[in-house]
Amino acid sequence: MKYISTRGQAEIKSFNDVVTSGLASDGGLYCPVSMPFFEIDVIKSWKGLPYHELAFRVIKPFISGEIPDEDLKKIIKDGTKNFVVDNVTRLVKLEEDYHILELFHGPTLAFKDIALQFLGKLQDYILTKTNQDIVIIGATSGDTGSAAIEGVKDCKHITLFMLHPDDKISTIQRHQMTTVLNPNIHNIAVSTYFDDCQDMVKEMFKHPEFMKGIRLSAVNSINWARIVAQIVYYFQTVLALTGAEEPVSFSVPSGNLGDVFGGYLAKKMGLPVDLLIVSTNENDILHRFFSKNDYSKQSVKSTVAPSMDIQISSNFERLMFFEHNFDGNLINKKMLKFRDEGHLEVDDDTYKRITSTFKSACANDADIRAEIERVYKKYNYIVCPHTATGTIAAEKYRVKGRKMVVLATAHPSKFPDVVTESINVHPDLPPHLEGLLSKPEKYLKIPNDIDLIKNYIYQNSL
Ligand SMILES: *Cc1c(COP(=O)(O)O)cnc(C)c1O
Repeated sequence: MKYISTRGQAEIKSFNDVVTSGLASDGGLYCPVSMPFFEIDVIKSWKGLPYHELAFRVIKPFISGEIPDEDLKKIIKDGTKNFVVDNVTRLVKLEEDYHILELFHGPTLAFKDIALQFLGKLQDYILTKTNQDIVIIGATSGDTGSAAIEGVKDCKHITLFMLHPDDKISTIQRHQMTTVLNPNIHNIAVSTYFDDCQDMVKEMFKHPEFMKGIRLSAVNSINWARIVAQIVYYFQTVLALTGAEEPVSFSVPSGNLGDVFGGYLAKKMGLPVDLLIVSTNENDILHRFFSKNDYSKQSVKSTVAPSMDIQISSNFERLMFFEHNFDGNLINKKMLKFRDEGHLEVDDDTYKRITSTFKSACANDADIRAEIERVYKKYNYIVCPHTATGTIAAEKYRVKGRKMVVLATAHPSKFPDVVTESINVHPDLPPHLEGLLSKPEKYLKIPNDIDLIKNYIYQNSL
């Protein structure tokens, strides 16, 4: 499969190159030149397959020949080994036609493990084969960082630098990153917000000269392999609930729009998906876009669902690209306009088409606390604050007789304070993470200054 940039100017790349690099040289994100499609009978025939078998079938067309089947199967299988439930995810029934899909049974208790365990194995395989070394630079609002670190900590060909906003992630999230002492892992706490961290990383990819030829790669949700891995559980869930005989709607707690983009692609690939409901916290740029065609930047607020404290949503650009016929020149114009004027909108037809699938809802901190309590009282089930935005949104669009699934993006024990405040029950860390808070940490605190950070990264990459 060939990959092109959403901004139409960068070189065309292979899957293997896209997976081991970052943002395209024109500032865009890589996307396949065309989307694979499966006939519905083919999809139906996959019912009952174990997760890794299903994943192989869903992922293979995006790679088409660049990795031998047997190797791809092994990469996928190895990427599922560190999950504590069979088949990676777990579906929990709240009531008839209403389910929670738990995506948090990986090493760092967030859905990001599903993609990043796979990505780590995939990158290690490609780099070993081609005998290359790369430096990964990433920014995290909390969960990407630890999931990325767990994904690559044992890769000999990778050095990782992870920026996080100092004091704006939970103690558990920080410990999950900073207690990994492997010498190829560098955590950097920057005294600013996540969006600034993400902007700095984008800037470094745009102007990689400071690395003097050392190859840079990304693990943020801009990496196409992550998106691909996130398509699989939509297939898994629709097959489990209806055998692909009937469509299913999904409510997805969103920030960078990576998770729900997997559902969008699954639908494009032929899976019966009905609505995709994007839920946000008070950082509601996505909700404003889907509810009133207003994609305009505002300042970031800290909320009780910190992994969604994002204003500029990177995969939004991919959605624009797909919805405008893969027209890179047009997207380039739109994104430059957004950068300069801080807002963007689409024409009426496009907006109608997008919102026939995408719905949205937003929730403030008080809503989230009340929802954690409501769900606990009604179903005796504990949701994390991100997932709570998903159940709020699901309530808005759920109708009798139609299946609705809320993606549970993190384990509640990752956010013990807000959960305890809401229901007076302390969510315990699962056994594989006990003792985390008493382990020694290693990280660097640095001011919000890109030159200082670039210099540190270059010096420590040698
Ligand atoms: C990253 C994250 C999200 C947002 O996912 P996107 O792919 O960025 O939309 C939601 N919830 C949790 C717990 C996360 O870690």
